[in-house]
Amino acid sequence: MDCIAHVVIFPLPIQGPINSMLQLAELFCLEDLKVTFLNTIHNQERLLRCSNVQSRFEQYDGLFRFVTIPDGLPEEHPRSVEQFGDIISSVQTVAEPFLRDLLVKERVTCVIPDALSYYAVDIGNEMGVPVIPFDTISPSCLWVYLCLPKLIQAQQLPFKGDDLDALVTHIPPMEGLLRRRDLPHFCLTDYKTDPEFLVVLKEIERIPQAYGLILNTFEDLDGPFLSCIRSHSAKTYAIGPVHLHLKTKLAAKQTPSLLSSNSLWEEDQSSIKWLDAQPVGSVIYVSFGSLIVASKEEILEFWHGLLNSKVRFLWVLRPNILKGGEMDYKFMKELAEGCQENGYIVSWAPQKRILAHPAIGGFLTHSGWNSTLESIVEGKPMICWPHNVDQRVNSRLVNKLWQIGLDMKDCCDRFTIERMIKDLMCTKRDEFKKSAENLSKLAKLSVGEVGSSTHNLESLVKDIKGLIRTKENVEP
Ligand code: UDP
Repeated sequence: MDCIAHVVIFPLPIQGPINSMLQLAELFCLEDLKVTFLNTIHNQERLLRCSNVQSRFEQYDGLFRFVTIPDGLPEEHPRSVEQFGDIISSVQTVAEPFLRDLLVKERVTCVIPDALSYYAVDIGNEMGVPVIPFDTISPSCLWVYLCLPKLIQAQQLPFKGDDLDALVTHIPPMEGLLRRRDLPHFCLTDYKTDPEFLVVLKEIERIPQAYGLILNTFEDLDGPFLSCIRSHSAKTYAIGPVHLHLKTKLAAKQTPSLLSSNSLWEEDQSSIKWLDAQPVGSVIYVSFGSLIVASKEEILEFWHGLLNSKVRFLWVLRPNILKGGEMDYKFMKELAEGCQENGYIVSWAPQKRILAHPAIGGFLTHSGWNSTLESIVEGKPMICWPHNVDQRVNSRLVNKLWQIGLDMKDCCDRFTIERMIKDLMCTKRDEFKKSAENLSKLAKLSVGEVGSSTHNLESLVKDIKGLIRTKENVEP
């Protein structure tokens, strides 16, 4: 009799969520759950080309399979963050009927979509299949989302006047901490017609309607936000940092896949070789994640700021980082050549290994949630240059709540960049390092034998296995 729970995991079609949801899938396989991972054809081709995902999952004896769907976009579509709304709605058009069909044809114990794919909750509820969204953004930002209706009701939104440094009220554990400029980007514009804002409203409506909620964090980091979120979703499982959780479980089993990669771009391994030749703690790692686009002027300000600081740097400059989908290889080449021996530029790097490298002393980041957690795990202080979604909230917390770095929000000039790099890497290095290392210890404890994330993952797996009986979803 086959009574293995079967979970369908459905990430957003972008690098960050694919990363953390593949890690979740692997954690499930280690617990003997069967996983179907729904990926777009476009991303699947890139993933198979650039990562070791196929060989990694082969060791789970048929417990894991990929299923691909088209993303509904023409091949030549740039799929950059500037068309994020297009990508999401196009995928929804394809995924909705596909998911319905899958739930009819197969015995599925539960569906785990990204929380932004709110429609999966509707489909699951309609078809009697429990849905447990994985919200891949930070819990603090999710809590801000959940407070948005209250902010609007209290006429905090839209802002009156243009003082972006005014403090925001009605977000309980962050009173006195969040300024208007620290809110998600759509709050700073005419949000009422912003497609992302409208999707977020649907997402937060569905959270209490779902069976539970998975978050990539640990209790010691986000405890106050988790308590608030649990008033909307009692079964909130904080099981992160998922990459560390997986690494710890694999190490305990002595499984030989510690160098796992889920990259959609080819990782330049020469970056590690370059780091090997640098002194301990001397290099700042610079990366703005997989989506952010910047102007040539902004990139040049960073280049000057980095060079003027005289601090060694390793910089990831994606070929598609320039606004408007521009690919200027000559510009990139000139920047790389101008670094001389002080810096090294690559187009994509094995980020988790880079952050773990002893030569790295700090991280200049866009404050994406995966990057923030990866830096916290390695105890590396950060300079934050956030743009959108949760990045604006995360960077405020890095600076003011956790005190593990500096926030360079809404500012991009070479003098500030130079000053902040010197502060992070030299003048204030010891104080930031101390708090960062403390958080790193707590992260490691959370995935240890008696840690909170270990306990929460056990509860999640037990609850999912329990759903088989509830649904009598057992193969004869
Ligand atoms: N990443 C990587 N190599 C790079 C840059 C980024 O592997 O050169 C990974 C990084 O480790 C993280 C993900 O890409 O897991 C980016 O996710 P994040 O949530 O930080 O930002 P997003 O790309 O979604 O804005």
